[in-house]
Amino acid sequence: MTRVHVIGGGLAGCEAAWQLARRGVAVRLYEMRPARGTEAHRSDRLAELVCSNSFRSASPDAAVGLLKEEMRRLGSLILQAAESARVPAGTALAVDRDGFSAEVTRSIEAEPSIEVVREEVTSLERFADELVIVASGPLTSPALYDELRRLFGRDHLYFYDAISPIVTADSIDRAVAFRASRYGKGGDDYLNCPLSRDEYRRFVDELLRAEKVPTREFERCLYFEGCMPIEEMARRGRETLAFGPMRPVGLVDPHTGERPYAVVQLRQDDRAGTLYSLVGFQTKMTYPEQRRVLPLIPGLAAAEFVRLGSLHRNTFIHSPSLLEPTLELRRQPTMFFAGQLVGVEGYVESAASGLLAGVNAARRLRGRAAVAPPPTTALGSLLAYVSDRARGDFQPMNASYGLFAPIAGRLRGKDKRAALGARAAGELSAWIVGEGVLAPSADPRRQAQS
Ligand SMILES: Cc1cc2nc3c(=O)[nH]c(=O)nc-3n(C[C@H](O)[C@H](O)[C@H](O)COP(=O)(O)OP(=O)(O)OC[C@H]3O[C@@H](n4cnc5c(N)ncnc54)[C@H](O)[C@@H]3O)c2cc1C
Repeated sequence: MTRVHVIGGGLAGCEAAWQLARRGVAVRLYEMRPARGTEAHRSDRLAELVCSNSFRSASPDAAVGLLKEEMRRLGSLILQAAESARVPAGTALAVDRDGFSAEVTRSIEAEPSIEVVREEVTSLERFADELVIVASGPLTSPALYDELRRLFGRDHLYFYDAISPIVTADSIDRAVAFRASRYGKGGDDYLNCPLSRDEYRRFVDELLRAEKVPTREFERCLYFEGCMPIEEMARRGRETLAFGPMRPVGLVDPHTGERPYAVVQLRQDDRAGTLYSLVGFQTKMTYPEQRRVLPLIPGLAAAEFVRLGSLHRNTFIHSPSLLEPTLELRRQPTMFFAGQLVGVEGYVESAASGLLAGVNAARRLRGRAAVAPPPTTALGSLLAYVSDRARGDFQPMNASYGLFAPIAGRLRGKDKRAALGARAAGELSAWIVGEGVLAPSADPRRQAQS
């Protein structure tokens, strides 16, 4: 093995190829566009942004801001290109989308050790004896999707997302929400937010009024798969939700001794019990509207949302049962996965996972063990989440402080995030030095020696 194959010239694939090249590894980067397009891409450029032009917050007060800082320290191409195409957007990092993808394309094409192959990959068998990174993204071509299904089976591969919002446990008002399972079955695993008739009606009114993300042609089929958004249920009848995900049957509010008119149930979402998801609450309300409407639910008035709801076409594998936090396939460590395909969500998160896959494929090529950042860092906590073997129900995830290993003390809010960020910075430094992670060209100590 003398080179690494990278499938997909998107955010993750380009970052992986770049990291390999920085380490002196020859790369074949396969991109199927323009010969075969996707439902959302519009050009033949590498690293095309299919929707928003924002890489979200640049402030370390948000986990995605800290993740950017970690990527910067690891020599990320995607962040360099984003900075060079930056447009004013307050505390967010937003880019001129054409300028951004043109810059990534230029950098990749100018790199002598990367060969860009404009070809659709339909079989992974041809790479059986070689190192390969699969980063074909949420809109993986149908032929490659079939290949992944053949390899992993239907139960380990998803075709779309129906994402419910997630809140931090300590932001739920426990004076309102009560613990119970319907009819007492399953102990008191759920937190229940009770609604009176008036509260329910007001919630439904606002849900119906709220602005929604338009449904794209290729997403229409989703409603037939039993994953209807809450606003669509409300549209079909004002009481539909009260007989569906918000049904109060089998529940008594201990504060009133009565059955509420409706409830929103929250289920624990991580092992540490720091996160709770709203059960059956997939929605296509825009993000600002979700932040306005969901706090109308009693008990969630001050909720901190670490992920908002959505519903869209998304191919991803069941990483908890397939991948190590190093992004290598447990049963075949020469095959790595990266990008949205592994169940991270977002441009920055996709690129960050590509970065680590590139670092690790280069290490494997040289006979070294693959590594993962500690779970006290933004990247390490995200990868610990997607590869957590104990996780059955799996939905893609953004970077979030809610995923970080807990910190001692009773800090909250901004102070807690600042402490988590400071700890992450220190632990990332120790990891970089301890594992020798930086590429020679990005390592200031080696630059000083040469
Ligand atoms: C419609 C849509 C809108 C989104 N909007 C946002 C947003 O606004 N903000 C955000 O942060 N995230 C958004 N995402 C999520 C995600 O962050 C992006 O999709 C991101 O581009 C994922 O990076 P990636 O590298 O995994 O995949 P991509 O960037 O999609 O790269 C994958 C590449 O692989 C190529 N490819 C696919 N199959 C093959 C094959 N068989 N052979 C060769 N090449 C192949 C594709 O052409 C593509 O270039 C959106 C996702 C979708 C589907």
